[in-house]
Amino acid sequence: MSRLAVYPGSFDPPTLGHLDVIERAASLFDKLIVAVGRNSSKKNLLTADQRIEAIRESVAHLPHVVVGAFEGLLIDYARSVDATAIVRGLRATSDFEYEFQMAMVNRRLNSEIETVFLMTKWEYSYLSSSIVREVATLGGDFSQMVPEAVVPFLREATQPANQAR
Ligand code: ADP
Repeated sequence: MSRLAVYPGSFDPPTLGHLDVIERAASLFDKLIVAVGRNSSKKNLLTADQRIEAIRESVAHLPHVVVGAFEGLLIDYARSVDATAIVRGLRATSDFEYEFQMAMVNRRLNSEIETVFLMTKWEYSYLSSSIVREVATLGGDFSQMVPEAVVPFLREATQPANQAR
């Protein structure tokens, strides 16, 4: 039986922390779909299409990883692609409460799809998309925080002319 997992998130922008989770999850499952949520209520820096393309370029070296997008309930999307598991990353204990709640709700909605948590790599434990967004919009150097392929997307989005959007 082929085991497929979905790694959902906002990925605004994708970071080295995300890529590390993707690489480790890819070695645990036969196929991994990195799924970009399109229905976030947050104000995004990158459009969903830019996030999808940026991840696609960042995972080009991983043959079992594909990039998708979903709207609506994650668990419905996971079921529609026949996923065995949902992968999420954990950093500090502050992630735990929210992730625990989501995993419980998703299990209540569909008990056949398991949520699997991967611990962050120590060197990425401080990294979040919101920190990268802040550094990037304030003109700081974010190149050590995101995969190389993501850099041009962020440069473009944080050019002074585009920031008023
Ligand atoms: P969401 O809005 O769904 O939380 P994110 O893109 O912020 O989307 O995060 C997607 C997943 O990746 C979450 O499970 C989050 O905890 C995890 N994650 C984010 N940054 C890191 C990191 N540096 N190390 C490990 N996991 C991470």
